[in-house]
Amino acid sequence: MTRTITLIPGDGVGPEITEVVKRCVSALGVDIEWDVQQAGATVIEKEKTPLPERVLDSIRENAVALKGPVETPVGKGFRSVNVELRRKLNLYACVRPCKYYEGIHSRISNPQSIDIVVVRENTEDLYAGIEFMESCGADNPLLVFLRKHKGVDLGCDTGISIKPISVQGSERIVTFAFEYAIEHGRKKVTAIDKANIMKYTDGLFMNVALDVSKRYPNILYEHVLVDNMCMQLVQFPEKHDVLVLPNLYGDIISDLAAGLIGGLGVAPGVNVGDEFAVFEATHGSAPDIAGQDKVNPTGMLLSTVLLLNHVGETAAAERLERAIAAVLKEGRCVTADLKADDDTTPPVGTREMGNAIAKRIEAGAD
Ligand code: NAD
Repeated sequence: MTRTITLIPGDGVGPEITEVVKRCVSALGVDIEWDVQQAGATVIEKEKTPLPERVLDSIRENAVALKGPVETPVGKGFRSVNVELRRKLNLYACVRPCKYYEGIHSRISNPQSIDIVVVRENTEDLYAGIEFMESCGADNPLLVFLRKHKGVDLGCDTGISIKPISVQGSERIVTFAFEYAIEHGRKKVTAIDKANIMKYTDGLFMNVALDVSKRYPNILYEHVLVDNMCMQLVQFPEKHDVLVLPNLYGDIISDLAAGLIGGLGVAPGVNVGDEFAVFEATHGSAPDIAGQDKVNPTGMLLSTVLLLNHVGETAAAERLERAIAAVLKEGRCVTADLKADDDTTPPVGTREMGNAIAKRIEAGAD
């Protein structure tokens, strides 16, 4: 039966990497029909919003989407498309598998041993958007409350962002991480926060994580403070497996982990909730190289591997991953960002790299 999946090409380099995905999925021969829905800066003029309702309707209908990067114009009064998608579809978990593929440059001496999955809470924490500007006057009710009930006298030149972390939100994300670990044959979950300093928020997250861990006796559990984890990820990344974090630390550690395995161009991801899943590469719309056939399609293709696994096309997912890995390892048909400094052979364009992967699939060579 044909499965329909929402496809959002997005802005900048989005359409170029989307074309590569279409070419490779067609080579795989899986019965997928793309419901192409434009969103982002490209539709604002015509539809007066970067995230038209039809895009959300399509994802609600199909339950699964593949999304290119989208731009949200700064200072024009639009909320971030990515934040809105997460909020409106309740995509409470951001999952970023960071696995090393041979042929990619990493600054780590033994990158082959890296196979980390970062699970980031997507809805709470300092990203909840509860903010107060400086200069709102000394009678600002928040400043008055803090003075009266906390004995804290903040000056009017202080901006404030509120960090809400709930039991329900923490339990939901930590349970998600343990269930992910079981489903993917992982051995350990590490909860990460700064509980020693922020006792009522990160401390809550730590306590909830410990409680949830007791329901999963077959998965190892540990708790590490975020500063210590930054050091450990650089020194001993191979020691880590599934990491679960509140929103802000999750955002930062996801990028750190992506850096370990070769950076933005190769890192895949998914924003997922109980009903819907939106797969996307980690990188943005890269306007500096848009339309130049230079963008590395690996992150979007590895996101497609995750998507195929998600919809039960596991054999196709494996074939696609093997073809990507083979082209990366060979190092000949790859974009400029993947070329080693001492490699004098010329890079290829996005399309050609995509073709090389598709041809490997078609040849069944891997
Ligand atoms: P970016 O990721 O677009 O680019 C950063 C740098 O990395 C650029 O030099 C770019 O050329 C390079 N780069 C990124 N991906 C690459 C790839 N696959 N291959 C080769 N080089 C690559 O980040 P930015 O410049 O900060 O953001 C540009 C726009 O993208 C902004 O409008 C931002 O809001 C948006 N953005 C969207 C998403 C998303 O939709 N998920 C994520 C991040 C940024």
